[in-house]
Amino acid sequence: MPRRPFVAANWKMHKTVGETVDYARELVPRVGDAGDVDIVLAPPFPALPALVDAVADLGAGDRITVAAQNVHAEPQGAFTGEVSLPMLQACGVTAVIVGHSERRQLFGETDAGVDAKVRAVAAAGLTPIVCVGETLAEREAGRTFDVLDRQIDAGLAGLSREQAGAAVVAYEPVWAIGTGRVATPDQADAAHRRIRASLAARFGDDAAGACRIIYGGSVKPDNAAALMAQPDVDGALVGGASLDPAAFAEILAATRPPDSRIMEGRC
Ligand code: PEP
Repeated sequence: MPRRPFVAANWKMHKTVGETVDYARELVPRVGDAGDVDIVLAPPFPALPALVDAVADLGAGDRITVAAQNVHAEPQGAFTGEVSLPMLQACGVTAVIVGHSERRQLFGETDAGVDAKVRAVAAAGLTPIVCVGETLAEREAGRTFDVLDRQIDAGLAGLSREQAGAAVVAYEPVWAIGTGRVATPDQADAAHRRIRASLAARFGDDAAGACRIIYGGSVKPDNAAALMAQPDVDGALVGGASLDPAAFAEILAATRPPDSRIMEGRC
């Protein structure tokens, strides 16, 4: 069963509510026919309800869904500054990025914390987008696969087979995030194959074959097609380039399944 491509925009701490609505107005006409790709936008928390509404008002609610960049694992409580899953669900959010390397490196998120969040997101029926990836030092020490195995084991430990198959794993080598230094298609595919093997060992072949594994790290319009052409690369998590709707639309176009590209004479 072919995996439907999944492309998510991680805006990080960029864009006000007004800028978010303007972005939706610019993006939607550009992706009107991108029917074979799951398109996901992850703005900062304050813009989530406005983006859900804007996408629906523009008639694109069935093609574009909205994700949060983080969540607390508990449904409520004395956790100043945090946001819960019920709050996100009430806004119309359907996916959550968990364990981004910036959360791990700058805000002290651990594998155990990622596990708790991933469990909670999946139990609530939302899609966890679980980020994994090695640092430059780990790659240079030949430890890339060990790090990926550990992060997959720890981060997805609480999922059932079905939940693992429905999850999205984002392979984001830390050295490629925001640096302009992108993994080669071969490097990305090798890491994705290792992640899929790791998933298969824990959850079985069916779940591993269903799970979308997407690449993140300096994806741009000019390198997206080569990355997406790799058999185990099922989409992208895009940071910097997703802030420009024209650039993000170009990445989406490069991500379409081969058949739709042939039909439109893109091959
Ligand atoms: C990210 O933050 O998830 C990311 C991949 O960023 P960039 O595309 O800017 O490297």
